[in-house]
Amino acid sequence: MKVVKFGGSSLANAEQVKKVCEIVMADVDRRVVVVSAPGKRHGGDTKVTDLLIACANCRQAGKPYEEALASVVARYAEIQKDLDLPEYVVAEIERDLRQRMASEEPSKHVFMDLMKASGEDNNAKLVAAALRKRGVEANYVNPKDVGLLLSDEYGNAQILPESYASLRKLKDAAGVTVFPGFFGYTKAGQVVTFPRGGSDITGSILAAAVEADVYENFTDVDSVCAVNPSLVTNVKPISKLTYREMRELSYAGFGVLHDEAILPVIRAGIPICIKNTNQPEAPGTMIVREREYGLGEVVGIAYDVGFCTIFVSKYLMNRELGFGRKLLQIIEEEGLSYEHAPSGIDNMSVILRERDFPKSTEEQVLARINNELNVDSVFVEHGMAMIMVVGEGMRYAVGNAATVTKALSDVGVNIDMINLSSSEVNMMLGVKAEDSEKAVVSLYNAFFGE
Ligand code: ASP
Repeated sequence: MKVVKFGGSSLANAEQVKKVCEIVMADVDRRVVVVSAPGKRHGGDTKVTDLLIACANCRQAGKPYEEALASVVARYAEIQKDLDLPEYVVAEIERDLRQRMASEEPSKHVFMDLMKASGEDNNAKLVAAALRKRGVEANYVNPKDVGLLLSDEYGNAQILPESYASLRKLKDAAGVTVFPGFFGYTKAGQVVTFPRGGSDITGSILAAAVEADVYENFTDVDSVCAVNPSLVTNVKPISKLTYREMRELSYAGFGVLHDEAILPVIRAGIPICIKNTNQPEAPGTMIVREREYGLGEVVGIAYDVGFCTIFVSKYLMNRELGFGRKLLQIIEEEGLSYEHAPSGIDNMSVILRERDFPKSTEEQVLARINNELNVDSVFVEHGMAMIMVVGEGMRYAVGNAATVTKALSDVGVNIDMINLSSSEVNMMLGVKAEDSEKAVVSLYNAFFGE
């Protein structure tokens, strides 16, 4: 049994939906199909999820929203017409959207998730109709009907473990189940979404729940590449990765799979196969528990911008019992989740995502560190990037750090922070955001060049 997930670009228009139907019909084992909302049809286009966010924002600001709503309906109508599906499919979608827009929900986060989730929900109904038109016994299933329960963290939900037992019934469902990605329900029955790109997480959860033989994740690239393909020509494709390698690379910017989509399948040991909807015959990239690797071998280099660092220094910090705990407690009490916390004898840094750290919180955090921890200095540096050099083979290998630092010094990039642990499969580097691309290209050439 295979669980297959199709991303937004794979469902952006009728031509893509046709390809999806053909892929599903080509293999009787593809019995659970998870869909995203329609994505971008071309470069300048807008994803349906973003159109829905715009719609919700209009209503929340008390502005007219008919135009925004019409642009969402038009995306589904275009697919319905081109596939010659019955008109009631779109009428039903429009009715659903109007009902959501009319919701009396007082919390803006709950309302926003209700709107965002409709992108996937309505697309699953549309794709099920497209499959049925081709003679497939396809059934739309709502996450509530099979107990996909999530935490009540709106826009950032996590699976509640008890969901797995109830989702298992999908294993015995007749025909092909078409399941909307990206959302589930809280215990109180509210719609709640995963973080953006979260349909990957839904697919992984369902694959684990039904103990699928493989979780196929269809997107718009032939395989995962060793580095962002827009940075180098003839980039090296990766045929096999371990879960840990993929998690590190996704965390640091490899957009091909959501980094939170790895955990559910790890527990069940289910391989993930990244495949291309536009070229399904290409073998793609397998993500597995273990693979063979050469000593010192690097598999990929990822980077992400949008980080900042709180630098704290205090003479004799190493002697002060509980300093690290107290610093991190302030971070916790201010509702911040930190990414890394490298330290020295008299200093400690806390690295955060800038999007989670608005100016008002920054001022509050700095004041508290000054007042409560009696430090010598504390300041924030913005505009950092994290580069992750990843490979199982890096453990125990001699010389990788030398290759990394030389590659960066060759292009005049200063390393602000470096984190390498002998038991880890990655080397993490903090550099200025404006230096990140040239640093990554130089690293790629050092590890993968001629
Ligand atoms: N449609 C949602 C997004 O754009 C979720 C997804 O595509 O996975 O983030």
